[in-house]
Amino acid sequence: MKTRRRFFLVLVAMGVAMFDFPAEAQRGRGIVQDEAKEPADKSETIRPSGLEPVFPEKVRCPEIASPFGSRTRYDGSSRPSWAPGGGSHGGIDITLAAGTPLLALAAGTVVAKGEGGRMLGIYMWLSHSPEETGLPDWVFSKYQHLETLPELSIGAKVSLGQVIGRSGKTGTTGGHYGFNGYPHLHLTTLRSAEGEYQIEGSRVISRDGRIFDPLALYHEAGVRMERTAGMPPSGKGVVIPYVAADGRAWPANTRVVWPIACPPR
Ligand SMILES: [Zn+2]
Repeated sequence: MKTRRRFFLVLVAMGVAMFDFPAEAQRGRGIVQDEAKEPADKSETIRPSGLEPVFPEKVRCPEIASPFGSRTRYDGSSRPSWAPGGGSHGGIDITLAAGTPLLALAAGTVVAKGEGGRMLGIYMWLSHSPEETGLPDWVFSKYQHLETLPELSIGAKVSLGQVIGRSGKTGTTGGHYGFNGYPHLHLTTLRSAEGEYQIEGSRVISRDGRIFDPLALYHEAGVRMERTAGMPPSGKGVVIPYVAADGRAWPANTRVVWPIACPPR
């Protein structure tokens, strides 16, 4: 009996440890001590939005490899169902060569940066006020797996499309992605009616903060455009505003842009 009870306790402990992973810690199933300290994001909001990006044809934007709410990773493998959100992706993944410049998706302020353990890597959080995006809510954006810790200091103001750091694969080696890791940007967006927040570990906590599909940002704050030929008939197509190779935003009056510049085709 004693052995059985001990076994049960071990199972309970494992369950607690697993449930404590952040949304991005859905990969790998070894012992992930670093991540166990990070409480889970509000996973109940992680559902596919149905939004579909429509990238302008004249440019080549790095596209989404694993969308928000996806049950699979970029390589088609399943995210484990024991993870918070039932294994649903809490952001978007964009596959990128290490060292690719990452852009502020809207004007904002650096609110946090740091270096986490496995699954998290080097990250940076920006805040964007309603005035900066044109949305009714505050938006917090988190860029993950950066190559190095960005030089921008906490409190620094960033402008729309400004280079804020470089992509990498920190936090992705070991576990599912193996020795070589997976160079990509994981972008999480959080929205809140209030701009007040607290920093807890690598997380930004806002009282009514909820994670949402970053595509909704472009859907709501992007410049409305005519239906184009590539638009899905669902009405859920989102034309992606971007920064071109010459550094100019398109459309000229947009307040939000794709987090990576789009070179011409
Ligand atoms: Zn991701």
